[in-house]
Amino acid sequence: MKLTYYGTAAAEGWPGVFCRCKACIKAKELGGRNIRTRSQACIDDTLLIDFPADTYLHVLNYGLDLTRIKNMLITHNHMDHFYPAEFWCRNEGIANDLEPEYEVLYVWGDKAILNGIANRGECSEKRVQFRELPLLTTADVEGYCVTALPADHDQTSGCRIYVISKDDKTLLYAHDTGFPPAEVWEYFEANHLYFDFVSIDDCSGLNSGRRGHMGLDAADEMRQRMLDIGAADSKTIFCLNHFSHNCLTNYDDMQEAVGDRYLISYDGMSVEF
Ligand SMILES: [Zn+2]
Ligand SMILES: [Zn+2]
Ligand SMILES: [Zn+2]
Repeated sequence: MKLTYYGTAAAEGWPGVFCRCKACIKAKELGGRNIRTRSQACIDDTLLIDFPADTYLHVLNYGLDLTRIKNMLITHNHMDHFYPAEFWCRNEGIANDLEPEYEVLYVWGDKAILNGIANRGECSEKRVQFRELPLLTTADVEGYCVTALPADHDQTSGCRIYVISKDDKTLLYAHDTGFPPAEVWEYFEANHLYFDFVSIDDCSGLNSGRRGHMGLDAADEMRQRMLDIGAADSKTIFCLNHFSHNCLTNYDDMQEAVGDRYLISYDGMSVEF
């Protein structure tokens, strides 16, 4: 399984759209891995996770090919993860010469996502269709076994974290969330889940944070608990992701601070496991 991070910032981007704080000025000076766009990832160049306004930038900069995506999982309807106005561009007469296999895009998520699409009414069902995936249920999505679990995040946003398995590999994609709620741990233990890769919300970087989003203290607690219950071991790759400029720490300093406990995500990063 391969995970590619296209966007690794929190909602405002880094540098922030309207921000002139020292972390944003520093990011502009340093460039490279310190420039972070809004949240998006893709598994095996096939299963897209989230659809922010920065998606088009990811198409231009990183070769994301939306004409060969059949399914996307949406974590929640905050604008840094879901920008349904863009679906207008998929209508017939606007998105032309699509291969028949890729004619319809299936968008998976909570009902709040469906409302986001229906309220706009900007794209024909011939081109975009919604598939509800209720919490604590599993669906086969293009050969991937996908389970939605509850997140500790804005409860009006339909937020969930995803367990994604194929063949003998399993990924946990935990954005956006605070320290995972009890139902998540119960699900891990009841189903004897083992993860090869864990992407942990670290909006607060090296600072502390536990509710809504996490900081390093809660990320460490989550990692340790996964190790303790056998949901992970020394072979599991843990990656911190979804950083706010308010955490102030640039890429190099963050990677140095966390040592070999975690990878630090950056836009365009790909990991095979
Ligand atoms: Zn977010
Ligand atoms: Zn800033
Ligand atoms: Zn959010």
